[in-house]
Amino acid sequence: MLASGPTDCCDQMNQDTDIYHDLHARLVSGFYPHGQKLRAEQLRQDYGCSASTVREALFRLSTESLVDFQEQRGFRVPALSKQRQHELAQMRILLEGEGTCLSMRNGGVAWEARLSAAHHQLSHIELRIRSVGEVGSHLELWIKAEQEFHETLIAACKSEVLKRMHLLTYAQFRQQLVVTDRNFSFLPENISQHHAIVDAALEGNETLVRQCIHDHLSRNLIHPIQPAHYAAAGGKSSAI
Ligand SMILES: [Zn+2]
Repeated sequence: MLASGPTDCCDQMNQDTDIYHDLHARLVSGFYPHGQKLRAEQLRQDYGCSASTVREALFRLSTESLVDFQEQRGFRVPALSKQRQHELAQMRILLEGEGTCLSMRNGGVAWEARLSAAHHQLSHIELRIRSVGEVGSHLELWIKAEQEFHETLIAACKSEVLKRMHLLTYAQFRQQLVVTDRNFSFLPENISQHHAIVDAALEGNETLVRQCIHDHLSRNLIHPIQPAHYAAAGGKSSAI
């Protein structure tokens, strides 16, 4: 009886973590429609776990802004919002531009090799989707490879805070854009833009890499970010 205590505890922790990760993946990949209510009781039955496990996972996801929570109304998938997409794109441009430039200064050959490998994997999947003519079963693979590529850009920035902020921002961005991404109408642009980002990074051209990251994400901005505005504020970025 006593011996089973820690095992039960670990099993419970593993189950809690698994459910959190599974719900996270569902929310980011568009499994639930935007604005849909998330009923804790239904999820409890789906996962065959306790109500507290589901509620803990939902509260944790609400702190990451992947779930909206309101007293009385409960949990919902965030609605689609152009303003939210704009703000998330703006934050990604800031974080990825700065993080990539720091990686270029700190990462050395090992980071460059990692970046080339991540881009190779992503472009392989994107070219496959283009040749087949539809995303089909490649969506999950593409989501993982696209995230891996953008995380690798900032991987050697030596700022855990920046990486954490980026992780949270990227997940919300993907959640907002997953329906648009699913039809892959931007695929030809994506292929050339990812390529341009890698080329600029490996060239060591910081101004160009910021511009390429901006160009890759700018279609999600409601209005362009004025370079002059940022220059006046003391920023040295060319793109933002
Ligand atoms: Zn991308």
